[in-house]
Amino acid sequence: MAETPESDWVARFADEVIAAADRYRPGKPIVCASGLSPSGPVHLGNLREVLTPHLVADEIRRRGVPCEHIISWDDYDRFRRVPATVDSSWSEHVGKPLTHVPAPPGSEHANWADHFRAPLLTALAELGVEFRGISQTGMYTSGAYTDQVLLAMRERHRIDAILAQYRTKPKHSAASQGLSADEAAMNELALAGSGAADEDDGASAAGYYPFKPYCEACDRDLTTITAYDDETTVMSYSCACGHAATVKLSAHTHGKLVWKVDWPMRWAYEGVAFEPSGVDHTSPGSSYVVGGRIVGDVFGGTQPVGPMYAFVGMAGMAKMSSSKGGVPTPAQALGIMEAPLLRWLYSRKKPSQSITVSFGQELQRMYDEWDALTGRVTAGTAQPAEVSAYSRATATAAGPLPVTPVRLPFGTLASVYDVTTGQPEQLLRVLRDVAPDQRIDSLDVLRPRLDRAARWVAAELPAEQRTQVRGAPDAGMLAALDEHQRASVRLLLDGLGAAWSLDGLTTLVYGVPKRMLGLPLDVKPTPELRAAQRSYFALLYRLLVGRETGPRLPTLLLAIGAGRVRELLAVTGE
Ligand SMILES: [Zn+2]
Repeated sequence: MAETPESDWVARFADEVIAAADRYRPGKPIVCASGLSPSGPVHLGNLREVLTPHLVADEIRRRGVPCEHIISWDDYDRFRRVPATVDSSWSEHVGKPLTHVPAPPGSEHANWADHFRAPLLTALAELGVEFRGISQTGMYTSGAYTDQVLLAMRERHRIDAILAQYRTKPKHSAASQGLSADEAAMNELALAGSGAADEDDGASAAGYYPFKPYCEACDRDLTTITAYDDETTVMSYSCACGHAATVKLSAHTHGKLVWKVDWPMRWAYEGVAFEPSGVDHTSPGSSYVVGGRIVGDVFGGTQPVGPMYAFVGMAGMAKMSSSKGGVPTPAQALGIMEAPLLRWLYSRKKPSQSITVSFGQELQRMYDEWDALTGRVTAGTAQPAEVSAYSRATATAAGPLPVTPVRLPFGTLASVYDVTTGQPEQLLRVLRDVAPDQRIDSLDVLRPRLDRAARWVAAELPAEQRTQVRGAPDAGMLAALDEHQRASVRLLLDGLGAAWSLDGLTTLVYGVPKRMLGLPLDVKPTPELRAAQRSYFALLYRLLVGRETGPRLPTLLLAIGAGRVRELLAVTGE
């Protein structure tokens, strides 16, 4: 495992968290926490909620200090609204706990929360994230929090007074946080998956109660507590459905603390030392700020180190957003990105910096950047912060993540896959030609990157950018070529055999227009030469693939194969 220079943001948070944990919970394992609401697809914005504590916990483990990463699944939260993609009949479930709502139609999962949690669990395993998941349904319904619930009810006036200090504060606006409209919209999406959006804090005309019962008749939380007795814990509530009941709260596990009380309760219960949160949780009056008061005053705990994390943006995903709806999930990203690459996008940026994840043509550039970094790290020329981000991306305290043994450029793999339509023997033949100095015994040494490229071609490359090699020569066009064009095509065919490699073909296709202009091969490019090269390439693309552009010509020629190139470019007059 690579050594981690202690120079990056992760190391600095680890220092801070270890120091804080030493003060407040000496001798106990350090707890880093994430909270996720499986109320809908858990997307790449929410992934920051997981990867930020993961990286810090991993750094602490690398130092040999016992540390646990917990993910609290907020699956006992209420079902807020029916997404447009789901039958409107699900509206009868609004207000029920997420684990009591049927999964969307066609799902193999037992309930709504499981349906959205399952793909994330698979993705986290692939990303090397070790954690202990805690279902809040399990915790509340088993009575694990009964003492904390009774304490919060007993201290309700104190809690109400703390909340009251913040209720009058003006609501922050996107502009005041320095967010663009796009970022604000993304942020809202992120919050929708983080358990905190728009929940009431427990205030009502009947008085303040931090506990919200789910109705025993209709299972929804459209309830109001009408009376509570601290001595006996006898609680009466009424529900919008008409049901009313009186229960003993010390034995009643059908309900939960409101979010702003629930979160600090769990900080104290689990002894959380580090838990980041999204922008809206850290503004004045937000749950992080209020929770910081409640955790100490009510639960006798300590507020964790809690940096705000910024926005995760997406680039080049017009197609994906229109076809699949919403922000992509980690599972979707892992379909086209190697796990270390995806980890790197998060490890290289401080939580306060925004992240951009690229899907369209931009993805190739991202892979190239990643490969260049790998090269610098291997050569020992990378900056210390780059080495840290790389080391955190490629390994955890448990060991290295799987890598592709022979890494060819992603763009090359995608082009060759596209041109050969994924035909395995052809793929192997062409990729050996493309990289003759690599040992490519089978396609397996190119995996998993090859499979990512294949999926990217299928899912992300627009139909108009797919390459279709002509099935037969364009006889009409060939016949209509002028003598200059014929000569230039003949020069290519004459040189083909000797130049059959990526480098050789590159020299050849750039060299033909020079020779046609009577220039030496080592001439500096002039505007005239560039124009001649452009029109020459366009001519070849039209004859080979029937349009003006395509994959890089040397790659394309290798992929098509010499025999077929000769057929498609068979000019008369030879
Ligand atoms: Zn009811």
